[in-house]
Amino acid sequence: MHSKLTSRSITVGSITADLVRKRIKHINVRIYAQTGRIQIAAPHLRLNARMTIEHIRAFAVSKLGWIIRQQTRMRHIRLPKREKPSANIQMLWGKACPMVISETHGPSRIQFTDGELRVLLRPKAKKKTRDALVMALMGKWQKTQLTRAIRLLLDRWEPVMGIEVARVTILKMKTRWGSCTPARRRIRLNLELIKHPPEYLEYVLVHELCHFFESGHGPAFKQLMDSYLPHWRKLRAALNDAQIN
Ligand SMILES: [Zn+2]
Repeated sequence: MHSKLTSRSITVGSITADLVRKRIKHINVRIYAQTGRIQIAAPHLRLNARMTIEHIRAFAVSKLGWIIRQQTRMRHIRLPKREKPSANIQMLWGKACPMVISETHGPSRIQFTDGELRVLLRPKAKKKTRDALVMALMGKWQKTQLTRAIRLLLDRWEPVMGIEVARVTILKMKTRWGSCTPARRRIRLNLELIKHPPEYLEYVLVHELCHFFESGHGPAFKQLMDSYLPHWRKLRAALNDAQIN
């Protein structure tokens, strides 16, 4: 095993670590999960006369096995997150749909045919901006689909409950599936609902509509839910198991 040392980095076998001298007592090594960068921090030579280049090199060699194990582990942990933006599967109404990206000479758009989401992009779309463009197109498309589904549900539920909703806003929310302002007859629903079975959307919508009559989640509220959606508890449990991404 050969090793090489420059003023700022040390290479041992297959790894290269940044070397910093600090006002510390003991030598240590760190691996940064985000970048995979390895850093060896050693005390200044004037603080610890043992901390010669040879000593640091020997330390790096002794830690090599640990460093490689850590790097492998971190790669495993980071992998799903890194793959997410280019994931070729999109959830739509509880079903996994393949997402296929191809080029078009017409306007960039999304087509949904035979259970497949086709993202059509103009050829000049640069790779750097492509992912962002796909995300933006998908978000817009999902919003349109969700708006349509909500309109159909409102057409069914408004007359049943004797309510007219003034406005439904679709948002990306981190912690809630829906919320409402009964005084202004407004409802907000999470865009993420499009990824789940349509019954979940109906449950959240009916839940918010029930708040037009009852503000809390007490017995009166539950009674309302029982009368409109008798199986609402099952849907609530399923939705609680689903994570908001
Ligand atoms: Zn509520």
